[in-house]
Amino acid sequence: MLLTDEQRMIRDTVREFMEEEIAPDLPEADKEPLTKDEAVRYMQKMAEIDLGPYAEERIKTDDPRTGSVISEEVSRVWPSLQVTMGMSRIPTSVVDIVSEETREAYADEIENDELVGCFALTEPSGGSDTKKPATTARKDGDEYVIDGEKTWVSNAPIADVAMVVAWDEERDQRSFFIVDDKTSGFETRQLEKIGWKGSPTGQMFFDDCRIPERNELMTAVSAAAAEDDEESGVFSGEIGGNPLNTMFASMRNGMAAISVGIMQAAFEDAVDYAKDRTTFEKPIGQHQLVQEMLYDIKVKLETSRQLVYHVDHLIDQNHDDARMMSSLAKGYVCEASVDATSKAIQVYGGNGLSKDYPLERYFRDARTMTIPDGTTEIQKLIVGYELTDMQAYK
Ligand SMILES: Cc1cc2nc3c(=O)[nH]c(=O)nc-3n(C[C@H](O)[C@H](O)[C@H](O)COP(=O)(O)OP(=O)(O)OC[C@H]3O[C@@H](n4cnc5c(N)ncnc54)[C@H](O)[C@@H]3O)c2cc1C
Repeated sequence: MLLTDEQRMIRDTVREFMEEEIAPDLPEADKEPLTKDEAVRYMQKMAEIDLGPYAEERIKTDDPRTGSVISEEVSRVWPSLQVTMGMSRIPTSVVDIVSEETREAYADEIENDELVGCFALTEPSGGSDTKKPATTARKDGDEYVIDGEKTWVSNAPIADVAMVVAWDEERDQRSFFIVDDKTSGFETRQLEKIGWKGSPTGQMFFDDCRIPERNELMTAVSAAAAEDDEESGVFSGEIGGNPLNTMFASMRNGMAAISVGIMQAAFEDAVDYAKDRTTFEKPIGQHQLVQEMLYDIKVKLETSRQLVYHVDHLIDQNHDDARMMSSLAKGYVCEASVDATSKAIQVYGGNGLSKDYPLERYFRDARTMTIPDGTTEIQKLIVGYELTDMQAYK
C-alpha cells in the first residue's frame, strides 16, 4: 500500500521535526517518567509541527492512515512520547461535551493546551478480564459516586482528567465516566517498569469520588447531540454500529503503529552497523548470516506496516472486519517488534546490550508493547471468537 504524496510529505515533515527537536533529548529524557510540566511542554512542542493542509483535527477524525504514519515517525524516535500523547487524547478529546463544572475548572488548561488525560480500565484483580469492573458508579441525585481502584494506567500520575471504566449500578452495565482531579479528586501512585520509561504509569484510587451526571459519557454524547454540538473525534466512526468498537480498534491498531516505528528505528540502525562493523576483514553485512538477520527484521517491519495500513483502511470504512483485524494487527505486530529488536541487538553483538547504544531501549520498548491494550493472548482469543463464533472466554 503506497502512501499518497500528502502522506509522504507529512511523514517527512514529522521525521525532520523529530530528528531536530526531540531526538537530541534522548536517551536522557526517557530515563525517568515525564513530569506533568515536561509532558505538557513536549505536547505543546509537537503541536508546533506544521502539517500543511492537514490540521490535527482532520488527522484524528478522518484519516487513520495518516495518523499511523505520524505515530510511526514519533515512535521511531520516542515511543513513550507517542503513548503519553495518545492516551492523553482519549479523555481530553471529549472534555468539550462533559459537565460545565469540569470544563470551567480546566478552562485555562483547555485554552492553553495543557490538559493531560488518561484512560483507566485495568484493575488489580486481573486486567484481561474487563467485562465487569469492580470499580462502581452509584447514582446519587444528579451525581455519580465512583469507588474503586485502577492500575497500570498510562499518564495516571500526571493526569488532570481520567476516562474511568466503572460498573453503573443503576443501569447494571459497564460505562465510561470522566473524572477530573480538581472537582472530584483522585489519588495516584507511580509504578516503575522496564520499557516506555518516559511514559508515567500508575495506580489510581477513587474513594467516594463525586462527579456530575453529565460526566457519564453516553449521557454527555446524547446531551451534546441534542444541543447540536459537534461530537468528539473519538466517536467519529461506528464499526458494527458501535462507536466504542471504533475507539478500541483505533487504540489497538495505534499500538501496532507504535511497534512499526520502533522496528523502523532498529532496522535502520542494524543496517548502518552491519555496513560499518568489520570482522574477518570485511563488513559484518557481507556475512550471509548477518544478511539473513537483516532480512528477518525487514520482513517483520514491512509485513507489519502493510497490516497496520490495511486496518486503517478498514477502520476508515467502518468495515465489519476492523474489530478482528485490529486485534490481529495488535497481536502480530507487537510480537514482531520484540523479535525484530532482539535480532537488531544480535547484529550489534555486545554493543547491542550496551546502554551506550539505543538498541537495548528499542528492545525494552518493544517488549512492553505486547501487554497494554490487551495482551497478545487476549488478541488471539478475540480473533478466535470472530473466526469460530465460539468464545474461549466470557
Ligand atoms: C506499560 C503499560 C501501560 C498500560 N497502560 C494502560 C492504560 O493506559 N490504561 C489501562 O486501563 N490499562 C493499561 N495497562 C494495563 C494493561 O492493559 C494490562 O496490563 C493488560 O490488559 C493485562 O492485564 P494484567 O496485567 O492484569 O494481566 P492478567 O490479566 O493478569 O494476565 C496475565 C497473563 O495471563 C494471560 N491471560 C489472562 N487471561 C487469559 C485467558 N482468558 N486466556 C489466555 N491467557 C490469558 C495474559 O495474556 C497474561 O499473559 C497498561 C499496562 C502496561 C504494562
